[in-house]
Amino acid sequence: MRLISVTFLFVTALLVSFVRANQEQELGRVLVEFYADEGGKTSDIRVLESTDPRYSEAAVKGVQKWTIDPKYRNQKWTMPIVFTVPPDEVTSDSAKGSYDVILRHGTIYDGSGGRPFVGDVALKADRIAAVGTLGAARAAREIDATGLAIAPGFINMLSQSQTALLQDGRSQGEIRQGVTLEVMGEGSSMGPLNAAMKAEMAAMQGDIKFPVTWTTLGEYLTHLEQLGVSCNVASFVGAGGVREHELGKANRAPTPAELARMQALVRQAMEEGAMGLSTALIYIPGVFAQTDEIIALARAAAPYGGRYISHMRSEGNQLLQSLDELITIAREANIPAEVFHLKAAGALNWPKLDQVIARIEAARKEGLAITADMYKTTRPPRPGSMPPCRRGCRRAATRRGPRGSAIRRSASGCAGKCAPPATPGKTTFFSWGRPRRCCWWDSKTKN
Ligand SMILES: [Zn+2]
Repeated sequence: MRLISVTFLFVTALLVSFVRANQEQELGRVLVEFYADEGGKTSDIRVLESTDPRYSEAAVKGVQKWTIDPKYRNQKWTMPIVFTVPPDEVTSDSAKGSYDVILRHGTIYDGSGGRPFVGDVALKADRIAAVGTLGAARAAREIDATGLAIAPGFINMLSQSQTALLQDGRSQGEIRQGVTLEVMGEGSSMGPLNAAMKAEMAAMQGDIKFPVTWTTLGEYLTHLEQLGVSCNVASFVGAGGVREHELGKANRAPTPAELARMQALVRQAMEEGAMGLSTALIYIPGVFAQTDEIIALARAAAPYGGRYISHMRSEGNQLLQSLDELITIAREANIPAEVFHLKAAGALNWPKLDQVIARIEAARKEGLAITADMYKTTRPPRPGSMPPCRRGCRRAATRRGPRGSAIRRSASGCAGKCAPPATPGKTTFFSWGRPRRCCWWDSKTKN
């Protein structure tokens, strides 16, 4: 980086270490406010005063390579920065260099969570080479991004492209929405597989046909790489799949020996690069796992820096209890935990969101790394939200559904034959309270 000298005027600034160039002439000075997060990254950078407007937030962001001592993180700081290079050079390692592409004058959302700022982004081959004000730099292709937003690729934390990518690795459905990282494995993953699971995976294939040539999760990811995929891919190891590997779809607790083998499978997946352990506790066979089983598996993932992520046991009437379960797992297994698609299903449960957020914040204050992601949808419950006792119910109605698909099963037809489970709300289906308004459609399911 270009050397930017910084003078500390405040005691607080002593906490920040970076490159100094003592002998250079001062050309400008800004007073900057910023926040240092728990990972040591700076965000919310705001220039309070500047001797030259060209030494802006973009300029400050361009030079920030600060290392924040861990004990001083999670705090806001104010400090002066002295610039010893001209404004159009402060923002890149080689601002006068040449790049393949420069996006100019875009509004940059850099992913740090801080405020967006107007600036330029330079690319060299497939890398971001510089961010900031790149007035003097040149590129083979320059694109005016005035009025447009520039952001890092989005992360799909709940990608369901695990088979689609086998067919077409270009990932156009996601790339064209800005998604560059697909994180797969919600509750079950593409490995580890045993012979029965492989046979079922082969038998259940619809339009997309593929040979199941892998056994472990790592082998699947390597297989994808070898086929060629345009996006980045990652996966959690699904606790449901690990359970099925040892117990099939049985509704019982594992024996100590089975649980030990399940833990070994989790460890193996972590060594192969899994991001952590996932559950989807409304789907078979995940729904059969009790909390202590999940804790044991999460404990196997934790030493590898894994994360626990969960489609919780209920997103409706038992929402708060389900969140408590996730927090308990995080605490007992000493593992960061994330709620998949946080929401409150059913109008009666919508007011619970305030309590949900309060409980997450209380857990974070306690020192637990609880996070959540979300999607936006107004869709009714998915097939998996049918109560387990009704998964095999016969078709009750067929009519035309969205985009001409056949509605294969009407929940109202099934509901009368199935008593609500002992703990109503354990499935999304019953938490809606008005099952006649739910329908289950799937244009591909063969009944
Ligand atoms: Zn889900």
